[in-house]
Amino acid sequence: MRHLAVLGSTGSIGTSTLDVVEAHPDRLSIVALAAGRNRELFKAQCERFRPACVSVAEPADAAWLQAALNYAPEIHHGAEGLMACATCPDADTVVAAVVGAAGLASTEAALRAGRRVCVANKESLVVGGALMHQARAAGAGQLLPVDSEHAALHQLLDGRAPESIREVRITASGGPFRDWPLERIQAATVEEALNHPTWKMGPKITIDSATLMNKGLEVIEASVLFGLKPEQIQVTIHPQSQVHAMAGFHDGTYQLQVCANDMKLPIQYALTYPERLPGPVPVYDWTQARTWTFSLPDLERFPCLGLAYAALRAGGTAPTILNAANEEAVAAFLAGRTSFWDIQACVAETLAHLGPQPVQNLAQVMACDHEARARARAWLDAHA
Ligand code: MG
Repeated sequence: MRHLAVLGSTGSIGTSTLDVVEAHPDRLSIVALAAGRNRELFKAQCERFRPACVSVAEPADAAWLQAALNYAPEIHHGAEGLMACATCPDADTVVAAVVGAAGLASTEAALRAGRRVCVANKESLVVGGALMHQARAAGAGQLLPVDSEHAALHQLLDGRAPESIREVRITASGGPFRDWPLERIQAATVEEALNHPTWKMGPKITIDSATLMNKGLEVIEASVLFGLKPEQIQVTIHPQSQVHAMAGFHDGTYQLQVCANDMKLPIQYALTYPERLPGPVPVYDWTQARTWTFSLPDLERFPCLGLAYAALRAGGTAPTILNAANEEAVAAFLAGRTSFWDIQACVAETLAHLGPQPVQNLAQVMACDHEARARARAWLDAHA
């Protein structure tokens, strides 16, 4: 039996995680839940799983929860509450699904506490990759990716000597603007960018899929998780989203990982690894005729992907700067304060302005994150 703390339980990964837990009540249980501001859904989740330790973002919501719940758990709030759930002594497994750089400290603390950490918060790896490895080594914990492409790579590379790998390829659907000409992409609206063709996800990652920044962050994530050089990680556009990653070996052979595009699969894989339990979604249907296509990404129409490679090559805090500027620019775009095309312009300018430093510790990385956000916001204000 695995005892789970789910950080970010009301988001898209969080709710899928709870569905997986519900499908395997004899194998998985919930001991801690943390969420942000969606208190009605969080209350329903708490009453469904009755975890002893829970946390929300705001003190007012913690007070509301205390009065509203039909049982009496330990109720925490804010960053400290998130940390209490991340290091809850009853949990052996932590699902890190908080959105954005806010999830960094809790992922690090869970690794340091020796948990199996199933990481859906890609910023933890992009921004704090080196620190996460240190924390995992210090706590003798385990780090398993929940991102579909990285779960696929984990399945392809597990048990293989790193030197046997020539390259890996992660696939991208290409997002809603895959076939759009440059001029149309430059003028894309929020509504158009949120209309993702194959995955249903939260708004931030959906915009990142439209710019291909999501794939760029995933390239960095793959480098951190599997110790690969930038040139060993390639992106293939595959609109059907059925092949999630490929491993290329030195003899020229490729292995591909295929499954339905439902996040419950990578979530269950990470929770139950190395076992393979019956799937939480229908088995892949090979009786249906299918056409798969593969093509290369166009860096001119999707410059965010190139910016991510540049940040990975620059190393140090460059991925932190990239991520912080992108979060600010995407938030501004979603709020109608900047154009779609200015997301990449803001990230490029912030990267060019702030030079990368070698990564030392979490406080330094977070200070760099704040500095990059301030710089990005100033740029966005000046170009509003
Ligand atoms: Mg992904």
